[in-house]
Amino acid sequence: MIKHAIDDASASGAGPALLDQGVAPGPGGTRRQAERGAFENNKLHKRLCRLAGQAIGDFNMIEEGDKVMVCVSGGKDSYALLDILMTLRQRAPINFDLVAVNLDQKQPNFPEHVLPEYLSKLGVPFHIENQDTYSIVKRVIPEGKTTCSLCSRLRRGILYRVADELGATKIALGHHRDDIMETFFLNMFFGGKLKSMPPKLQSDDGRHIVIRPLAYVKEEDTTRYAEARDFPIIPCDLCGSQENLQRKQIKGMLREWDRKSPGRVDNVFSALSTVVPSHLMDRSLFDFTSLQTTGQPVAGGDTAFDEEPCATPAASEIIQLFRSLN
Ligand code: SF4
Repeated sequence: MIKHAIDDASASGAGPALLDQGVAPGPGGTRRQAERGAFENNKLHKRLCRLAGQAIGDFNMIEEGDKVMVCVSGGKDSYALLDILMTLRQRAPINFDLVAVNLDQKQPNFPEHVLPEYLSKLGVPFHIENQDTYSIVKRVIPEGKTTCSLCSRLRRGILYRVADELGATKIALGHHRDDIMETFFLNMFFGGKLKSMPPKLQSDDGRHIVIRPLAYVKEEDTTRYAEARDFPIIPCDLCGSQENLQRKQIKGMLREWDRKSPGRVDNVFSALSTVVPSHLMDRSLFDFTSLQTTGQPVAGGDTAFDEEPCATPAASEIIQLFRSLN
C-alpha cells in the first residue's frame, strides 16, 4: 500500500499556488497570453509530480517515517527536485520529512547567501555544510588535469557524513532521465559495461540509500520548470573545470537521434527496465553452463528461429523475392 501511496497522491490536486500566480500580463503580453502561460506551467508541474510519484512508487523510494535529505547544489535539477518533493509530501498519505542540504565547497565567487535566503523563504528545514574541498582539489590535482573525480569523491564522503549527523534515512539526488541515458551510453561506449545510474541504490559505503525521484523526468522539463519557477540558479562552472567531453559527445548523439528518429531514445530508456539476461552474454546473470532442455515449452520463451525486428529476412520472404525476380 505504502509503495504506491505517493504515486497515487501525485496524480491528484492542482499545481502549487506559486504557479497559479503570474496571470498578470508581462511586459508586452496580453492577459490571455499570461493565463495561457500559467496554464502550461501548471500542466508541467502536474507532469513532474506524476512522473516523480510514479518513480518513487515503482522503486519504493520513500517509506513511512523516512527523513529524506535532498541535496541542493543551486542547479535547476536539484531545485526542481526539492520543489516537487515538497508538493508530494503535502499530498502523500504517508508521513516523511525533508531536509535540504547544500555543500558549500568554497569555490571562488560562490554566492553563499543565495541558497540560505531561498530555502528560508521556502520554509523547508535546511543545512549548509561548509567544506573547502576546492582548495584540496586544487592542491592535489596538477594544473590542467580533470578535477571532477576527486572533487565528487570528497563531496560524496561529506554528504554521507552529513546524512548520518542529520539522521537522514534517504539521500535524494536531482539526476533525471537524460543523466541516466547519458551515463548508460558513457559506460557502454567508454567503459565496456551495460550499466547506468539506478533510481535507487545502496551507497558505496553500504550505509545509505540514495534515491533519484526525477529518474523518469526529461531534462527539457526541469529546464522549463526552472524558468517558470524562476529558481535562483547558481552557475555550475565556478570551479573552472571543463565540461566532460565524452558526456558532451553522448548528449549530442542523443539529441541527434531524437531529432532524426523520434521515439528511439524513448525505446532505449524503456529497454533499461526490460532486460532479458538469458539473451545477453553475462554468465554471472544467467547460468548458460548448466542450461539443459526441460522438454516443456517455456511461456514467453526463446524464439530462436522466429523473425526478430532486426533479423535478416525469413526464408519464405527470400524465396518470394527470388520468384518475383524470375
Ligand atoms: S565540475 Fe567542478 S564542482 Fe563539479 S565535480 Fe567537477 S570539479 Fe567538482
